[in-house]
Amino acid sequence: MVWSASGSTIKDGAVLIGADGVIEAVGPDESLSHPEGALHRTFPGCVVMPGLINAHTHLELHDAKANPPEEDFAEWIRSVRHAKDRLSDERFVEAARRGVQDAWRWGITTVADTGTSGATVYALTELGGQGTYYHEAIGPDAALADATFAHVQRRVLELREVAGSGVRLGVSPHAPYTVSEPLYRRVVEFARAETVPLAGHLAESPAETAFVTQSQGPFADQWRSRSLAVPDPRRSAVAFAADLKLLGEDLLAIHVVQVDAEDIELMVDHDVAVAACLRSNRRHGHGDPPLQRLLDAGLRVGLGTDSLLSVESLDVLAEAKAAQELAGIEVDRALELVTIEAALALGIADRTGSLTPGRRGDVCVVDVSAGSDPSVGAVLSSEAQVVATILGGQFVFDANDARGL
Ligand SMILES: [Zn+2]
Repeated sequence: MVWSASGSTIKDGAVLIGADGVIEAVGPDESLSHPEGALHRTFPGCVVMPGLINAHTHLELHDAKANPPEEDFAEWIRSVRHAKDRLSDERFVEAARRGVQDAWRWGITTVADTGTSGATVYALTELGGQGTYYHEAIGPDAALADATFAHVQRRVLELREVAGSGVRLGVSPHAPYTVSEPLYRRVVEFARAETVPLAGHLAESPAETAFVTQSQGPFADQWRSRSLAVPDPRRSAVAFAADLKLLGEDLLAIHVVQVDAEDIELMVDHDVAVAACLRSNRRHGHGDPPLQRLLDAGLRVGLGTDSLLSVESLDVLAEAKAAQELAGIEVDRALELVTIEAALALGIADRTGSLTPGRRGDVCVVDVSAGSDPSVGAVLSSEAQVVATILGGQFVFDANDARGL
């Protein structure tokens, strides 16, 4: 059966993808033309759905070794930085390559990735993958903001030369506890001037909230121990972001756990998109984002996994399952959060996220035959399994090949 994310489920449905990789038609198999010479594959007992979107990854960290998530989030962030310091550019690219291929095995055809090395741009380009890569700006020292920004800008321009047609470039001031206010402002101005998308970790942990709202806590201690000026207290992390002009429809706010009604209103006013990462937040003990309220407010929400340092897999269907349970939503709605809604959040719904004529032929095939009820609802059951991933009409994962058939 076909679940298109933009209409009803089609029993005995089919998707016709042209030689150019673009969807030509979607409908009952008997109503579609079967062009001579076209590859014809059938998937009995499966749900054929749009390729999944992972709205937050750090693929350059795909095989990095750092401490497991621990109670002290500030200390964990520091351990990640130290782990990264030990890796070469080539190791980052190797990790990102494995990350892209791993994503395909989970049915993911589009990633929204953040990193400091640019490795994901090389990996996606080389492998013919697609996604948005947000190059991160990190620098808490306001005195170095200009130099850090110049470095970020130069790197983005270099990556632009390298990036293949499936790769969109953005920028990401990392988080309030790693970026000085002048650096935030420089990156935001650059993004708006160049019309490139923005992403940023925002309102993730209680430690971040203590830093932003009270200038206290483990992050503030780290800043003070380096003689860095801690920013003046703000009402919330979202209010801080608003002050810095970060909020806008071009912003993907990552996490958004520590928010109240006023913050949600601010985000609605600026049409901010959200990448919620439920399993990561739980693993770190940050709590859950108010997902139902974010959805009820009409915000565009996609789901992301975060890196393998925070979660055990890039499985976004596990995120959809967690979202379904947390927000008490239907399976269809939860699946939208990893397809069409995630595409809207990233501003790419005209290209992918649904099985619609004119969109790219990005498809994920999930075998639901093992369960007692082989329906779309079974996609989120533990027995369901991704058996094929098709990117622009090309198989990038095929369980038949993987099994050596
Ligand atoms: Zn992250």
